[in-house]
Amino acid sequence: MMMLTKKMIQIRGLLQTVGQSEALQLPSIVVIGSQSSGKSSVLEAIVGHEFLPKGSNMVTRRPIELTLVNTPDAHAEYGEFPALGLGKVTDFSQIQKTLTDLNLAVPVQDCVSDDPIQLRIYSPNVPDLSLIDLPGYIQVTSSDQPPELKQKIADLCEKYIQAPNIILAISAADVDLANSTALRSSRKVDPRGERTIGVITKMDLVEPERGVGMLSDKKYGLRLGYVGVICKLPQSSNSLFTRGNGNISSAVMKTENAYFSSHPLEFGPGSELEVGTKNLRKKLMYVLEQTMSASLKSTSEAIQHELAEASYEYKVQYNERPLSAETYLAESLDAFKHSFKGFTEQFGRAHVRELIKHELDQQVLNLLAQRYWNKPFDDLSPPLPEPDSLAELPKADPENPLWHLKLDASSASLTKLGIGRLATTVVANALQSQIDGLISSSTFAAHPFARQTITEASANILRDLSYDISDELEICIKPYKYRIELEDSEWMRGRENISRVLKEELRVCGEAIKHVEVDVGGSRKMKDVMAFIDRVRNGQVVLEGNGIGGAGGFSAALLQKGREAVFLRDRADIIKMRLLAVKSKQCASKKNKYYCPEVFLDAVADKLTTTADLFLDAELLSKFYYSFPRHLDTRLGRNLSPADIDRFAREDPKVQRHLDVVRRKELLEHVLKEMEGLRQLEIRGAGGRRGR
Ligand code: GDP
Repeated sequence: MMMLTKKMIQIRGLLQTVGQSEALQLPSIVVIGSQSSGKSSVLEAIVGHEFLPKGSNMVTRRPIELTLVNTPDAHAEYGEFPALGLGKVTDFSQIQKTLTDLNLAVPVQDCVSDDPIQLRIYSPNVPDLSLIDLPGYIQVTSSDQPPELKQKIADLCEKYIQAPNIILAISAADVDLANSTALRSSRKVDPRGERTIGVITKMDLVEPERGVGMLSDKKYGLRLGYVGVICKLPQSSNSLFTRGNGNISSAVMKTENAYFSSHPLEFGPGSELEVGTKNLRKKLMYVLEQTMSASLKSTSEAIQHELAEASYEYKVQYNERPLSAETYLAESLDAFKHSFKGFTEQFGRAHVRELIKHELDQQVLNLLAQRYWNKPFDDLSPPLPEPDSLAELPKADPENPLWHLKLDASSASLTKLGIGRLATTVVANALQSQIDGLISSSTFAAHPFARQTITEASANILRDLSYDISDELEICIKPYKYRIELEDSEWMRGRENISRVLKEELRVCGEAIKHVEVDVGGSRKMKDVMAFIDRVRNGQVVLEGNGIGGAGGFSAALLQKGREAVFLRDRADIIKMRLLAVKSKQCASKKNKYYCPEVFLDAVADKLTTTADLFLDAELLSKFYYSFPRHLDTRLGRNLSPADIDRFAREDPKVQRHLDVVRRKELLEHVLKEMEGLRQLEIRGAGGRRGR
């Protein structure tokens, strides 16, 4: 018979994991009583341990859903707080402390909370029971308590003592039953006394006759009757058990036996009255079993109803597409790896080359501006005389050491730039941003955890690889630091390429000038301010304080813009001039390299690029392409616990809803099957009992 309660308690635990609806509440025993009525003492006597919060002030602020699980073959007794994930707590004073902390965490202004604390206690010494301990009723609020506390406790209790729950109404023998708040409350919801068990505590504090009178009370007759108990621990054993870890049941029973057997007339074997914690336990087990059994049919129906709803949602919303957190992760990972593979097939040496060459083109332009095109001044002061100005370049004498020095220094600047580090970083950054792009267009976009994991994986691999690769690449380009030999074809390619680069630069300058024009507020205004700046630079106007407070009727900001425009115009002029030079016959042959530093430096950059792209393709790309998917398998596969995977999948609200429906449906199906099994057992049992 007791199987039923055990099973139902298991089912209750399962239903809790999917969030029970009101309809799925399984009956439980709800314990109510006034403060100091001895409510905690009764519960502790049933459990056999002191574990409830104690203190003169009200400490129970949240309902405690106490599930007792009988483990006949086990020796150990322990508690578990399923919501906290603390694991098995074998020290009952620790359970007491946790409960106290959880209660104290309820803000004082809230008084009480109806969010229950779930506590399971496993022991060979407890019966299978499901009890809910509620805050004790208070008569008057003390000065340090909010005035609405009394009402809030009453409301909370009223919510819990509804059918089909059984009410365990605790009253102390030394208080008149007519004044028992517990009985008064239960009477309101159970006027015929059909699901209330009366418990009279502190029987030792009143004369036996008075105790007898209370236990046989007819004013509020209870179908399930009254039980008299004495749950006070004997003084001698009290100190022994203060740490809460010894079993107190036998001590309590000893006290009760001593008292009740010393009053055989009232409580002896001939008496009809029920006394003692032992009997109370038996009664609770029996009544809960009966109530569970009676609710089997209605609970089954409620589950069927919920299941129908879940199945409907599954069908309509999700087209009955099965989903689990694991399959979701596996599919997402596969899809991501697939898109990565696609990327690796199209991103190869040619892309690496383009990236590096583009970077070096910019470096070449910078070098040229620094060493050759040093005409424009980003300043308002008059230009200094420039001896080896650009205009002299076509006339450069191949024997003149100045032009040799200039070109050698420029080429050395390029080769000693730290190409190893630069090229590796450029390519690694490009790979990283490609990975970011792949993540954004994958299902992982909606998953911060996976996003971070993947980004970290690629960043770590790239960082580790880059470290050695940039050094090795630097060694590969070392020969160019000493000597650079150019083929004719290389010269030709350089000439073509630098023309393209210069044209592009010219276009960029043009765009930038247009932007400045818009900023300034039109071409006329820009021309005026540029003309003024030119006059300053030609020494026709003397500027005081470098124009910080504005000058010539122009504000400082406008002068700044004008300066930008002049700089861009001069740069564009130079580039136009150099474009003509590069296209001229003189630059057609590598023999005239001193006239054409642009072509020469481009050809050098091209040589460096060829070495770098070959090396990075072989080292960085192929190693990264190999490692990355493997790292993903580890980080998003093997390294994740089922809880991690679940958390991951639930990051996406859509997936979470889908998973919830699937899980709810599966669980309800499972529970329903169990319930049907129990009903069959019940029907057979009832048949057997009738047959006897
Ligand atoms: P609660 O506030 O309703 O939880 O009451 P407690 O269980 O904390 O008990 C209040 C006081 O009554 C404590 O000092 C207990 O030791 C005492 N007490 C509880 N049960 C009995 C009993 O059966 N007999 C006697 N004499 N005292 C009891």
